[in-house]
This record gives sequence, structure tokens and C-alpha cells, in this order.
Amino acid sequence: MPTPTLVAMTHTPETLLQRLLLDPSRADRVTHVEHVAARVGRRADWPGWVPALLVDRLSLAGVPAPWEHQAAAADLAHHGSSVVVATGTASGKSLAYLLPVLAALLTDDRATALYLSPTKALATDQLRAVRALKLMRVRAATYDGDTAQEERDWVRRFGTLVLTNPDMLHRSVLPRHADFGRFLRGLRYVVVDECHTYRGVFGSHVAQVLRRLRRVCARYGASPVFVLASATVSAPQESAGRLTGLPVSAVTDDASPHGATEFALWEPPLQPGLRGEDDAPVRRSATAETGDLLADLVVEGARTIAFVRSRRGAEAVAMGARRALEETDPSLPPRLAAYRSGYLPEERRELERRLQSGELLGVAATSALELGVDVAGLDAVVLSGWPGTVASVWQQAGRAGRAGQGALAVFVARDDPLDTYLVHHPSALFGRPVEATVLDPANPYVLGPHLCCAAAELPLTEADLPLFGAPDEVRLLLADLVRRGPLRSRPRGWFWTGRDRPDADLRGTGGPPVRLVEAATGRLLGTVDNASAHTQAHAGAVYLHQGTPWVVDELNLEEAVALVHAEDPDWSTTARDVTDLRVVDVARSTSYDGIELFLGTVDVTHQVVSFLRKRLRTGEVLGEEPLDLPPRQLRTRAVWYTVTPELLAAAQVEPADVPGALHAAEHAAIGLLPLFATCDRWDIGGVSTALHEDTGEASVFVYDGQPGGAGFAERGFARAEAWLTATRDAIAACECATGCPSCVQSPKCGNGNSPLDKAGALRLLSAMIGTGLAG
Ligand SMILES: [Zn+2]
Ligand SMILES: [Zn+2]
Repeated sequence: MPTPTLVAMTHTPETLLQRLLLDPSRADRVTHVEHVAARVGRRADWPGWVPALLVDRLSLAGVPAPWEHQAAAADLAHHGSSVVVATGTASGKSLAYLLPVLAALLTDDRATALYLSPTKALATDQLRAVRALKLMRVRAATYDGDTAQEERDWVRRFGTLVLTNPDMLHRSVLPRHADFGRFLRGLRYVVVDECHTYRGVFGSHVAQVLRRLRRVCARYGASPVFVLASATVSAPQESAGRLTGLPVSAVTDDASPHGATEFALWEPPLQPGLRGEDDAPVRRSATAETGDLLADLVVEGARTIAFVRSRRGAEAVAMGARRALEETDPSLPPRLAAYRSGYLPEERRELERRLQSGELLGVAATSALELGVDVAGLDAVVLSGWPGTVASVWQQAGRAGRAGQGALAVFVARDDPLDTYLVHHPSALFGRPVEATVLDPANPYVLGPHLCCAAAELPLTEADLPLFGAPDEVRLLLADLVRRGPLRSRPRGWFWTGRDRPDADLRGTGGPPVRLVEAATGRLLGTVDNASAHTQAHAGAVYLHQGTPWVVDELNLEEAVALVHAEDPDWSTTARDVTDLRVVDVARSTSYDGIELFLGTVDVTHQVVSFLRKRLRTGEVLGEEPLDLPPRQLRTRAVWYTVTPELLAAAQVEPADVPGALHAAEHAAIGLLPLFATCDRWDIGGVSTALHEDTGEASVFVYDGQPGGAGFAERGFARAEAWLTATRDAIAACECATGCPSCVQSPKCGNGNSPLDKAGALRLLSAMIGTGLAG
């Protein structure tokens, strides 16, 4: 195939955006354009302790000197202070940790370092980067599920820089610490890359794995310095401290250069004539809109990545864009590709190379973390929907724009309350970051299993307790583990009894994961966590596994298996459940005039009783079928508020409308909490009722979906004013009349989105905020 001629990029970001808006029907889809100014880079001198050989090799690799933030972080780490570098995409966070790590490995034969990343792709890329420096004294290797046995032996005996992930550390390194004695004795640095990805229950588990690592290291006489790298989030110092359990300094002043960015917020239009659930208006999908934008940008010769949340979505975007290009210029479709996670490293690098060279002009991709390790300096990026955190928005948008050259970023809203809020409240994206990485290592459901693992690694002593949490609480938990059998208490501490293998499931709590098995072939496709199986893998459910649809034939709870077959029907399914919530205890509360706000422990009982089939494009309900599933119990943390009848009356919410107003307020609140708490709306649940038995008032509860909680409810309580104000503003921003998926309808509602009173919710929330809640 001949190399295609490059289409010249003659546009500035401003004119590129103007081209997209040439079609007058599009003009009102842009709700805001933020001009993010260019940043000039600031270099620092190489710190004096960096060996000359390393300076030489880095210069050869094209690094004439570090940026200021790299030098500052490296210097802190070198002098023994744990540090988190929280700067933008492509700001060179890796040099900040490579400098102290490589300097130590080059100057001390016994020194070792551990690098932890959330994905194998990232570890592989880091290994490649380190090997390219050709430092003979640095023996670097990856150690993960793919590493062959003889290679593992080599790593244990000789490796000085080991690149792995928290799961391997938990399952393979710590339980066999004696085999890693040499490595652990010399351990000087632990690098935790992309540390904002360790959030929620998973983050809480990783926090305990790192505490176990520190304890085992101490036994070998090592006390490693932690260097963490994170995208920009609020309070990185606090989050990194909670993750490691150590005091951590933060370096946040990004000194790398970056081109100016025009950042447009884009809301797809309501489609006249289309009606969805409860006759709600239907917005054009973010996927369809993104496909058009990608095609238009490619026509303009702009090298563009469109980031899409699901694999199916990425493929749909690529397909839509290709179809549009065939009409305009048949030479262009071959210069467009779809990328999903799970590609081989060589395939991914080939794609990155073609994009970098301009051979490819457009890519629709699923994950920012994998793709784009080596891609920066694109002309445009389109974000199809909220990628989960503000940090990821910047990570994805950061792929566009080289120094001295502007770039365009477009955020396309999906039809949910959070996206609606963001496109109408730009300051949530462009102001100070609002979200902090939330995790709760003290969750007893997380801590208990790790105490067992720790005791199996080395007996636990009284002196160990503060490492794992508040000593009194840890002691209570240990007493319980002794009573239940896995631990034995002796004068010298707590010992593992050796019955069963101690284990903690890092990816979740609450029962064995349910396996998804293709009925016809017996092939194992993957797993669903136990807690979600009832709602997502019941008989008849359409289950999306890595973006591919499957239909469940049968859910067998005893065997923890769901039998499925491949099918792509024209509908999705939503489970309906009855939920009962009881207050167990109140940890904290605040009162305002007519409102009380609580944080505490609740018991939630769920029973999935039926499911709805909804048409894919509109959400219109096609039918309902009953299900026979047992109830599930969940003890977890919740944040809730109660409102007095007087306040409801003042808000002009008639008694008959109270359930609908509370329910609508609950849905929107669940939609908005992710903006403050790095969770997904699927990680949390809610209950609203006009009169709750335990509170005696009209109440709205939002609870963590995992046993013991993940810290999300705490964060909701701490940021209640901002959270409920955003909730009100999100509802107000939607132009629909009586509620739609962009504001108060929820795709996960167990009650079929009924009753919902959008206007009542708006008046109620306004009255609540008026009482000084937001003051
Ligand atoms: Zn709406
Ligand atoms: Zn609901």
C-alpha cells in the first residue's frame, strides 16, 4: 500500500472549531469554549547526585535537562521523603521517579526498586523505556501473570528493578517473601504509577497491600521511599498519604511546556419526535455525535483520537465516522481505525506509530491508560462522555497539543445528569479540581482478610497494629478473627492457624465472583462480581462483556455461574428490585433549619423481582418479566438527609408529590456524587421515602454498594453542600419538561423510574440550599 499523502493541517484550533460549527444547526450545541493558555516549559539543572552516566544516556535519549517539577520530586525522593507528582499528561512524570531509582541502582549493587502499575501495558512500556537507556547495571524485568517460571526465578535472584502490579504483589511476592529476601532487603524505592486509579474498594485493598509490603520490608531491614505519580486531582498529598499510610510531599506545579488548547463543551440535541421511557424526550447519542465530529476533523486533516467508554461504543463511533467519510472523500476511510484494550503490545505500538506519523488520521479508542502512552501532540481529541474522573478528562484531553502548537478538545455529553451538569457548569472542569481519590482502608471487610494475609506472612504483633488502622478497631477485628478460627492469639501476637489459604479479593468483596460461561462451548468469558450478578446476570439479561453483548440463559447461584449465548438484541435490560433499608447506627450528623444530614451504617436488603426490556436507541419500555431470586443483604455506609413537613410545604411540594420529588432528587444526587468522590454511579445506590421508619421523616439515602463501604458516602457527607447544589443545578440545566435520562431518570432504577417529579425535586433542593445548607 503506497504511503498516503499527508493532508496538511492548516487550521488553528479556533478555526478548526469554526469549521465544525459551519452547519448552523450545530451552533447551539456548544455550551462553552474554554481557552486554556499555552504554558512555557521551565528547565532545572540535573541534581548533583545524578550519576554522569545517567545524564549522558538521558541526553542521548533526547532529555537535555529535567523540568523543574521532575527535579523537585526526584530530589525529595533521593533525600528520603516519599513524594507524589501530580502533574498533567505527558509532563514527564516518569523521569521524576526514574532519576532517584536509576541513580540508586547505578551506585549501589545491593539496591533494588519496585514499580507498580495498574496495567500490564504500562509496565511493558516502562520496561522498554528503561532498557532503551542501555544501563548494564540495571537489571530490569516485568513480573506478572505472563512471566514464565524460569524468568520468575531469574527475577527473584537477580532483578534490581521489578515492574509488576498490586495483584502480583499481593498474591505472589508477599506470601513468598523469603524467596524475595534479597530483593526486599535492598528495596530503596516503591513507585506507584497512575495512583489515582487505586480508588474505592480496589484502592482500599491496594492500600492494605502496601501496608503489608512495608511491614515485610521492615523485617528485612528496609524502609523504602514511595514515589507516586498521579494525574491532577484535588488533595493529591492526602490521597497518596492514605494509600501508602505514610506522610507524603506533593509536587503539583507542572513545569513542562504545553500548547494552547481550545476546549469546547458540546451537548447533543434533543431529537424532535422521538420518545423514550415515560414519554421522555430522547437526546441524540454521544456516540453518533462523536462519530460525526471525528469524521469532520479527519476531513480537515486533523489527527484526532476519540475516546469512548465501551468497546462497542468505540466501534460504533469508528463505523459512523467511516460512513460519513465515504460520502465526502472515499480516500479517507482507510485512514481511520478503532482501538480497544486487549491488543497485543506490538499491535498497539504499530497503531500509535501510524497515528504519530499522520498515516492514520483518526482513531476511536476505549482506554486512555493503554493507548497513548506514546501518543501526544495530536491536533484534536474528542471525549465521548465523562470518562469517570476529572483527572481522566485531562489525561485524555492532554493527548492533544504539542509545545508551540495549539489543539482542540471537545467534550461530548452523554444523556446523564453528570454530563449535563458539566456542559452547563464549565467551572467544575476548568476550575480547581473538585474530586479527591476516595478510598477507605479501614473498611473491616477489606482489612479483615488483609490481617489474615499479614499474619500468614509474619505473625502480627501489638506494634504492628497502628500500621493497619486505629489500634482499638484493629484489635476488635483480630478478636473476631480469633473467634471465627483463622487466627490464634498467643502472648507474642496473632498467628495464622494455617486452615484454608488466607486471601483477599482485591477487585471486590461480598462472595465469590460469578463466572460467565458460554453455554454452547463451555468457554469462560469472564466474571461478574457477586453483588452485581442478581441485577446484571439474571436469566434474560443482556450482559455487556468488554463491550460485546451476551444474553443470559440461566443464573445458577449455588455454582456461581451464569450460562450465556452471543446475541445482539435491539434492547437492553434493567432489573427491578424492592429495597429495604434500616439504619444501624449514626456516626455523624449536622442539622440545618428543617434538614438533618447523617452519615452512618445501614443494612440494605435487595430483592430483584423482575426486569424490563428497553429499546436501545430510545429507552422505551418493551416489556417486563418476573424473576425468582433470593433477597441479598448488604451492611454498608450511607449518607442521608431528612426534611421536615414544614420545609416540604415551604418548597410547595404537595404531600402526594413528595415521593416523586424525593425519588427524582435521589437519582440526580447519585448521578452527581461521582464528581466529588471518584466513584461511578453504578458503585452507589439510593433509597428515598416520604416517611422512613427509622428517621420518622421524609428521607433520601445514598449508600456505598460494597460491604463496609468504600468511602463514597463519607465524601458525600463531607461535601454535602457542594454536592446537593450541583444536584440542583444539574436538574435545572436540563431543558426537558418533566424529566429525562439527562436529569432525573436513571438507567439503574429498581423502580422503573416511577414516580419522578422533576419540578418538585428542583423546588425541594432549592429550598434546602436556601436554608443555609450551601452557606
Ligand atoms: Zn431532562
Ligand atoms: Zn429509582
